[in-house]
Amino acid sequence: MATPHRLDVLILGGGAAGLWLLDDLHRLGYSAALVEASALGTGQTIWSQGIIHGGLKYALHGRAGKAARAIRGMPLRWRRSLAGEREPDLTQTRRRAEYCCIWAKPGMRSRLGLLGASLSLSVKPKALNRDSRPAVLRDWKGPVLRLGEQVIEPGSFLQVLADRHLKRILKVDGPQGIELEATRSGHVREARLRCPGGQETSLQPSHVILAAGEGNSRIRNRLGLPVEHIQQRPLQMIMASGKLPILNGHCIRNASPWLTITSTRDHADRVVWQIGGQVSEDMARATRPQAIERAINDLKLAIPGHDLSGIRFSTYLASRAEGSSSGQRPNRPTTFHDENVITAWPTKLALVPMLSDMIIKQLPPPGGEHIFNMPANWPTAAVAIPPWELESTWTTVH
Ligand SMILES: Cc1cc2nc3c(=O)[nH]c(=O)nc-3n(C[C@H](O)[C@H](O)[C@H](O)COP(=O)(O)OP(=O)(O)OC[C@H]3O[C@@H](n4cnc5c(N)ncnc54)[C@H](O)[C@@H]3O)c2cc1C
Repeated sequence: MATPHRLDVLILGGGAAGLWLLDDLHRLGYSAALVEASALGTGQTIWSQGIIHGGLKYALHGRAGKAARAIRGMPLRWRRSLAGEREPDLTQTRRRAEYCCIWAKPGMRSRLGLLGASLSLSVKPKALNRDSRPAVLRDWKGPVLRLGEQVIEPGSFLQVLADRHLKRILKVDGPQGIELEATRSGHVREARLRCPGGQETSLQPSHVILAAGEGNSRIRNRLGLPVEHIQQRPLQMIMASGKLPILNGHCIRNASPWLTITSTRDHADRVVWQIGGQVSEDMARATRPQAIERAINDLKLAIPGHDLSGIRFSTYLASRAEGSSSGQRPNRPTTFHDENVITAWPTKLALVPMLSDMIIKQLPPPGGEHIFNMPANWPTAAVAIPPWELESTWTTVH
């Protein structure tokens, strides 16, 4: 093997967190490279609904703690990047929606929740009159509000960042295509990489960032680092496809997002809904027919009168990978710093910019003595394929 390439930072994992960080580090003058074991965003980012949350959940419960205040600023930060007013310039990212709707099941608790949200979100939700509501909610009996949360197409967002760093993203032959040589205390000295064609190279990074989502625990295990503060939360997400209206938003029940619906289009220009929220948590371990049945029943309540006949339904199993030292659901990004290794989880797509800031604060300033050059003929990684393009088993409602 040739002489190892020296560099400031090596990132393992090219989902939203790894790619955003790579972009920030490059702009700040670090010599940085990213290694991807599969396709970019496999695991969570490509499965996500793409909502740039601003803390609705906390607002509905009237919680105005530090976490709620932190996430409040995210929609504006993303909005400025999506408008090209700050780096990273994400103007080429496809957007699913410029705002989300919230509509509450009629009832006192939901109304109180919405009132709380109106008071504590940084961009106040605006009540929509009948004519400005999405057609499917025009006759909804309760309030319908417009919430300043944009919805992005996660695959397009990954592609925009990846295109900028083709010469810094190395595809390896699965997780086994990376071998980390570390001291007993976990200081990584060298990363030996093997690409799908069998070519090998070796990198000597000053710092290693684990941004591999679910893969982080496996890498930490191999490095002998503790894994007990890592959790996975399973979900069964519902997909609906066919003659559906474009709808992006949350139906609220008992002061919680009960159904979260986002809309995109598949390769044949059919509208596809991703349906998450309470249903995907409750149905995490249910069979697919049970999850579809529950989703259809919930949709009948959330969009009454909308004819679902001819709509195809399917599901995909997903899991949220999170670092949590309390065992609770984290509500902000998490990092663990061991020797020269920082393990990172954004917790939410919306919180990725905050995670990147947190990591950069833990790094020394760029040394300026290394320049990363992609090994000749090394393949770069492609963006993962969204679940509705991979699914072949759909159930049609009659
Ligand atoms: C169903 C679902 C819906 C969601 N919806 C939203 C939403 O609407 N809004 C929101 O803010 N958040 C949402 N989230 C959360 C959000 O998607 C995640 O917090 C975020 O995408 C995590 O990004 P990541 O880069 O840390 O991980 P990932 O996207 O999982 O990326 C990890 C990357 O590491 C790679 N990898 C794995 N192992 C290795 C290895 N050993 N070596 C190298 N590479 C490796 C993977 O292939 C992958 O590319 C959702 C999550 C899920 C599951």
